Amino acid sequence: MEHFACQGCGACCRWSGHVLLTAADIAALARQLALTEDEFIQRHTALAANRAQLSLAEQPGGACCFLGPDNACLVYAARPQQCRDFPHTWRVAGCPALPP
Ligand code: SF4
Repeated sequence: MEHFACQGCGACCRWSGHVLLTAADIAALARQLALTEDEFIQRHTALAANRAQLSLAEQPGGACCFLGPDNACLVYAARPQQCRDFPHTWRVAGCPALPP
């Protein structure tokens, strides 16, 4: 795995795509937020465009619902696998920590 030094810009959390959720992601996020899984799904998810999976809800403008005002992830310890996989299996243009 290549070295990656996140610079905290939040670009990957504002990228115009879905944060798709697995069943394990939902369980972990609900536990972190002290919600039941049903409560978590009602409050923080939406049906993804593929109409087969849930994704994290978005703020107006498209940022992830858990991106804080200081670009910190509010659920970092329980962040979804898709977030953990960045930038190793997917990337966004404009990330200052990656080569152009
Ligand atoms: S869950 Fe956290 S790391 Fe993942 S997109 Fe949202 S703010 Fe970013």
